[in-house]
Amino acid sequence: MADRYFVEAPIDGTRASLVGSEAHHLAHVMRAKPGDAVVLFDGSGVQFEARVASIGRSEIELEVLAREAVARELPIRVTLGVALPKGDRQRWLVEKAAELGVARLVPLIGERAGEHQSESSLGRLRRAVIEASKQCGRNRLMEVSPQQTLPVFLSDQRPDSLRWFAQPGGTPIGELLPALPAEFPPGVVIAIGPEGGFTDAEVAAATAHGWQPVDLGKRILRIETAALAVVAAVVAHVEAS
Ligand code: SAM
Repeated sequence: MADRYFVEAPIDGTRASLVGSEAHHLAHVMRAKPGDAVVLFDGSGVQFEARVASIGRSEIELEVLAREAVARELPIRVTLGVALPKGDRQRWLVEKAAELGVARLVPLIGERAGEHQSESSLGRLRRAVIEASKQCGRNRLMEVSPQQTLPVFLSDQRPDSLRWFAQPGGTPIGELLPALPAEFPPGVVIAIGPEGGFTDAEVAAATAHGWQPVDLGKRILRIETAALAVVAAVVAHVEAS
């Protein structure tokens, strides 16, 4: 796949410009020259063939040659609410969720916490989404929402969506997947608990809101393993259907 660059502003004409780290990478790491070909995307689902027109001190001007709608999204919308782990583990989780095709990730705070997300840490996670999308060919960005409390997340979802919370002892995921149609507009919403697990009160609240507990096997998984195990199972099911 050709080198891909993310353009913040929607591309709607024959010119586009790269700034910030994208411009730095193209100019100083790839040592681009006027006339070089690149692929651009702006998060709208479309990718663009483009050519470097000029390289400035902090901005690269590009000539847009062609646009192509390339569908690399999942056939169903997957929302992942997760009490994010610390440090590199949270960046890794976010990057892999974007690669797998999650539409929206919501950092959760529950009774047993979840790492607090400042505006700057959310910014770093959004940057990780862009890097993952450049690499995996995705032309829409996974949304990283502001942090939500678990009660808000539980009650905020479409009642006709499939709502699963990962909980040892729940229904085995292999029993739930066959009932998931390959196309299901309400989508699937998944909640993953913090290191200490969901409290009994949180489990009761989730069940009262119509969420289903999902078991992922006999081992206790770390947060990121549990999150990606559910998402990967959904992806394998809907993309093979
Ligand atoms: N001490 C906690 C317990 O025993 O429940 C472990 C929590 S685990 C590190 C973090 C989260 O991952 C859990 O709250 C749950 O959402 C999910 N999880 C981990 N292993 C799981 C499994 N085997 N089945 C379902 N969910 C699991």
